[in-house]
Amino acid sequence: MDAGSISFERKKTRQIMVGDVPVGGGAPITVQSMTITKTEDVDGTLAQIYALAAAGADIVRCTCNSAEASAGLARIVPRSPVPIVADIHHQYRRALEALEAGVHCLRLNPGNIRKPEQIKAVAAEAKDRNVPIRIGVNGGSLHPDLYEKYGGKVTPEAMVESALDEIRYFQEVDFDLIKISVKASNVPLMIEAYRQLSEQVDYPLHLGVTEAGPPPGGIVKATAGIATLLAEGIGDTIRYSLSSDPVDEARLGRQLVESLGLRERKNVDLISCPSCGRAEIDVYKVAQDALDAFQDREIPLQVAVMGCVVNGPGEARDADLGIAAGNKRGHLFVRGQNVAVVPEAEMVPTLVEWADFIMEHGLDAALERAKESAPAARRAAEEDRDRNLNEKGEDANESEQIVELMQTKRQAAGE
Ligand code: SF4
Repeated sequence: MDAGSISFERKKTRQIMVGDVPVGGGAPITVQSMTITKTEDVDGTLAQIYALAAAGADIVRCTCNSAEASAGLARIVPRSPVPIVADIHHQYRRALEALEAGVHCLRLNPGNIRKPEQIKAVAAEAKDRNVPIRIGVNGGSLHPDLYEKYGGKVTPEAMVESALDEIRYFQEVDFDLIKISVKASNVPLMIEAYRQLSEQVDYPLHLGVTEAGPPPGGIVKATAGIATLLAEGIGDTIRYSLSSDPVDEARLGRQLVESLGLRERKNVDLISCPSCGRAEIDVYKVAQDALDAFQDREIPLQVAVMGCVVNGPGEARDADLGIAAGNKRGHLFVRGQNVAVVPEAEMVPTLVEWADFIMEHGLDAALERAKESAPAARRAAEEDRDRNLNEKGEDANESEQIVELMQTKRQAAGE
């Protein structure tokens, strides 16, 4: 099977609209993040919302924890480039105010708004305004009765029961614009809770590993939980919850759905080799420089940075465009074909220039452009390839010498 045609079958869910963004029902997986500004700081919050949207967030959540925050939302919502979700804890009045402010969705935590009449009042108001609500169950703030019922432990069953209890209140006022999350900071617990929930409801699900921590560990945890479920077809919208700049959360979320083939690529997919004894450049630095150069450009190409010309062009032959290091020079290739040779210092600017050319004129035009320079580029690549092989040999990592040394030491020790 061709790698490009592999796709994960998704579980069918209902669709809701968060502002003008569809969630569930086969809509593209959306990426969310949350502002860390005070919501009453309208300009500061809007600046962050714009940064999050530019980094790939489709929907942004803001805390609504005071009357000033509710007033801030009334000013933010009409100027926001993406739909706004109000995050509500403890105070149901803030939920009513946020609806008044025009937010596109609410998030309620069933663990801390517990009075049925308050829950129903919010759902009835949301129904009148056609605004969806996320039931945001959190393993760390589970309803105390459920915590006790399940033996003083947070279990997947307890988290699912919390969501189902809240749905029942909503149903009493005939409200069904629902999405649900059952987040936990423990990855296996979170995965199992979502699996169980997905068996029992067809509402869209919002995935996340809560309080995942700072990068890089937090990224690993969040990715392990979210990606596992997405690959099983579970989940309609996602959020990375990291102790880090929320712009990183939005970028990572976007990268995850793109790398799973669940969203069309918006930015460069940079592939680079892990480097080894054969490398002729500092691969990590050049790859980072390339990433920085492409970072905020909307260039949906796969671009390769490879440390040597011996294996680089072959291993990255599926990339649209790439560069492999030779003897103090870079060998540029388009779809595996050598097209030009440039000095080492010009490797990254050359990649950017050719990426721009491909975006404007297409891959065939790029190969046509290289018609004259290609034969010389191929010869130069062969020269550097042969030189590398002669100098470093087939065993670039010197493993044979290491094995020999180990044997000598063993013999000296009389083994
Ligand atoms: S053989 Fe070349 S392309 Fe492969 S990891 Fe080593 S330096 Fe990179």
